[in-house]
Amino acid sequence: MTSSEQASGVQESGVRDSGVHKLVIIGSGPAGWTAAIYAARAQLEPTVFVGVPKSDPGPVLPGGQLMLTTEVENYPGFPQGITGPKMMEDFRAQAERFGTKVVDADITKLDLSQDPVRSPHVLHTSDGTTVRAHAVIVSTGAVANWIGLENEMRLARQGGGVSACAVCDGALPAFRGQALAVVGGGDTAMEEATFLTKFASVVYVIHRRESLRASKIMQQRYMSRPNAKVLWNKVVVDVLGAEHIDGLLLKDTVTGEQSRLDVKGLFVAIGHTPATKCLAGSGIELTDKGYVLLRGRNSATNMAGVFAAGDVADEHYRQAVSAAGMGCVAALDAERWLAAQGID
Ligand code: NAP
Repeated sequence: MTSSEQASGVQESGVRDSGVHKLVIIGSGPAGWTAAIYAARAQLEPTVFVGVPKSDPGPVLPGGQLMLTTEVENYPGFPQGITGPKMMEDFRAQAERFGTKVVDADITKLDLSQDPVRSPHVLHTSDGTTVRAHAVIVSTGAVANWIGLENEMRLARQGGGVSACAVCDGALPAFRGQALAVVGGGDTAMEEATFLTKFASVVYVIHRRESLRASKIMQQRYMSRPNAKVLWNKVVVDVLGAEHIDGLLLKDTVTGEQSRLDVKGLFVAIGHTPATKCLAGSGIELTDKGYVLLRGRNSATNMAGVFAAGDVADEHYRQAVSAAGMGCVAALDAERWLAAQGID
């Protein structure tokens, strides 16, 4: 870029460039905002790209999965609980209080081919600009997989007893003493179903095959509960209920027979997909399950100056509080890395 282009902010390609940042944070869930709070207080003047709303096919909102959570009761410091959206609003306000800049756009592509000290990383945004940054924190989260049924998505959106996170939503009064269903046969399904047995009258795990994918110990833990049931070879073909779920239409994968199951809650636990689309071609190494690979007990990726935090780099815990902790770690790592390069 020539000096006149730098001054005008317009490159030869016609793409607008919003200048060089010390630190750009991609994603606005608990990891991204916590990283921003720490980085802003360290005077790194972070800019957070919060993303834009999408349907993927379920709702994906700036703020991440907590935006789809009704009540958060397991985040320390909120004895009365707090709604997911309110929590994200407060995280954002706290980050902005210390000077974090917020951009309502997605980062769509990362060009990490240059040495970030001499020539900052180039990030492309969904509104057609480029941004350059010496350090980047990827905190794009993960998106829960949904079955993809119209009524499933409708009831999930309106808080009608359909959720993709039993640990977040399962303990709500609406589910206590009720018959509840969990779809899936992996460790997450077992974990969520076991959790729900504490509140529900009965829990049905609905699995499409006749053997579970989950580890034996997780299976045993669930099966040992007196109110635990598994419905084998079944898929959900419709979710019933106008304002709140009152049943499921199931189909037997062997006989094709359909049946109704009365339940007051549906928890979809068929895996998560880490949000790494924007990382394609960037050179950032991923795990065999598609999560950002961290290089140790810190937030460093394989690319210089690029750090990751939260669910995009965590296939095991995926909690708001663990994501926030990872955000803190990433900000401290970025701050130290920038200082070591003489950028402060
Ligand atoms: P997972 O292991 O990929 O299991 C997903 C389950 O959902 C599978 O049983 C799969 O069925 C089923 N499924 C997928 N798509 C479906 C669909 N469209 N309709 C119906 N069923 C569908 O995912 P996960 O359980 O979330 O686990 C992810 C990783 O986290 C795993 O490595 C797991 O070990 C780990 N994890 C560990 C713990 C723990 O150790 N405490 C807890 C949770 C997760 P099939 O089996 O037929 O493919």
